[in-house]
Amino acid sequence: MTRLSVIVKHWTPAQWDALIMQYLPSNVLTDKFWRGRPGPCPICGGQDRFTYDNKRGRGDWVCRHCKDGEPMAGDGLELIRRLRGMSFAELAKELEGTRPPCPLPQVARPVTPKAAMSDEAKAKRIQRVWANAAPLVPGDAAMRYLAARVPGLVAPRPSALRIATMDYYHDGELMGRYPTIVAQFTLPDGRTATVHRTALDPAKPAKAYIVTADGEILPAKRNDVSALPTAGGAVRLMSPRDGVLGVAEGLETAYAAHMLFGVPTWYCLNRVLLNRFVVPQGMGIHTLYIFADFDEIDPKTGKSPGMADALALAKRVRNEGLTVHLHRPMVRGTDFCDQWLTANRLQGIAGQRAVCA
Ligand SMILES: [Zn+2]
Repeated sequence: MTRLSVIVKHWTPAQWDALIMQYLPSNVLTDKFWRGRPGPCPICGGQDRFTYDNKRGRGDWVCRHCKDGEPMAGDGLELIRRLRGMSFAELAKELEGTRPPCPLPQVARPVTPKAAMSDEAKAKRIQRVWANAAPLVPGDAAMRYLAARVPGLVAPRPSALRIATMDYYHDGELMGRYPTIVAQFTLPDGRTATVHRTALDPAKPAKAYIVTADGEILPAKRNDVSALPTAGGAVRLMSPRDGVLGVAEGLETAYAAHMLFGVPTWYCLNRVLLNRFVVPQGMGIHTLYIFADFDEIDPKTGKSPGMADALALAKRVRNEGLTVHLHRPMVRGTDFCDQWLTANRLQGIAGQRAVCA
């Protein structure tokens, strides 16, 4: 047990509220904040994207668009640590000397925790979502979306992607019905851990733009419930070829990298899961290509987040004895989807010139 977990071991949800209150600025601690409604994020400063719900009774929060456009969530300690730029050890030191926060009786929270779903119920739900989705066919919403994001895409039709029309719920409220790409997220041992959903615009080949009555922009890309821990897994877009496999963070970057490098590529959903990707046994994979997102430097860590996670994966897999090739796009702040768009455009210009000559 860490020092911090010892300190907070017996804290009640109300004590977490009190802790949060000691650290957050008053422009964040509004009435809406305590009612679990979206408001300004104390970390990234964005409006209408941060929700404090204390749903596990540990000062829990989520920012839907925190860093590099990625959602971020955590408990009260993580929030304070990020806010103050402290390490967990520094925070432990600060909390150790003080008395536990005094509960605030005036904070009344209407949010009641949802009944937890059993793992069996989650597995059934995932199965149902997958079974109700249809395999991709040329011209469907998923194929049109992919053709728009990765122009000129040529790839085997993926059995790990399906398409469905799905209701989009937020806080128990129906936001709309969208054509939705359903992706099967598979663990190294072949079991399905979850399905990932990308809501698409019903009219044009783009991600859906979903906004609540409060003006909060909701993510088009979401995981469904996870029946199993997701670490190690990926969406298996294509079969490895001659022992060679590539991995990328996202669906679009995986396809773009495939077009640029000709390597069969899977995707891990985000950089954290890319970092934790495990090469499955029994497929004869001896060479792994890692196609990193070349994120801007995070001023807090001095590192490019996408690159840092890709490097960590490269190091681990190399230590396991595999050949690893790590690639990043040429321009900082871009991913391989951007690079493919540029390459494709230049090819188009070159093609036109050839016609003119
Ligand atoms: Zn934020």
